[in-house]
Amino acid sequence: MPKRKEKVLVLATRNPGKVKELKALLADTGLEVKSLEDFPEAPEVEETGKTFFENAFQKAREIALATGHMAMADDSGLEVDALGGAPGVYSARFAGEGATDEENIRKLLQELEGVPEEKRTARFRCVIVVYHPSGHWFKAEGVWEGLITTEPRGEGGFGYDPIFLIPELGKTAAEIPLELKNKLSHRAKALAEMKYKLPSFLEAI
Ligand code: IMP
Repeated sequence: MPKRKEKVLVLATRNPGKVKELKALLADTGLEVKSLEDFPEAPEVEETGKTFFENAFQKAREIALATGHMAMADDSGLEVDALGGAPGVYSARFAGEGATDEENIRKLLQELEGVPEEKRTARFRCVIVVYHPSGHWFKAEGVWEGLITTEPRGEGGFGYDPIFLIPELGKTAAEIPLELKNKLSHRAKALAEMKYKLPSFLEAI
């Protein structure tokens, strides 16, 4: 008989948009997907790690231990080669704590002033960690390669999407429909890997 005792997965986020999107994408896993909205007493986890993995691991572990259920956390951001991988884990606050997307984009474009197109390579990276209270865990990762434009283009998406050029399409991530972004993106790839690895993880815990 298959073990598969654990049926609950807690998403380690309070962002209602992310919860809705992830619940839809995980609907076919057979898991009962909950979020921190279902566990108001769960702690607020600070993002103090130096890598996406450290942040995702820390969040998933703390929430699993606080709720007693398997938990899933993700962390993502933009790595620009000409800036040695920055803004990386500081993507959301590159221009300072509480910075807007526009402020972060402006700072990034300033730092890349004069950098020729072939040296403007970058990637979005997303790391997902699933952690079971027993201490078992696994990670999944997705990257999306692109180039940083010299000015913002497009109205869609969020964050750095307007300056992230997808070379094969000649469009920025803010110029493509959300359905297409959700097939190509770092998050989509990380989630596909997570779903691929999940069944054997559930068998093993
Ligand atoms: P988080 O993983 O939600 O904490 O994302 C951190 C930051 O990375 C966001 O605030 C954005 O600045 C950036 N980022 C992550 N994913 C994307 C994306 O798909 N498009 C644009 N920016 C992103």
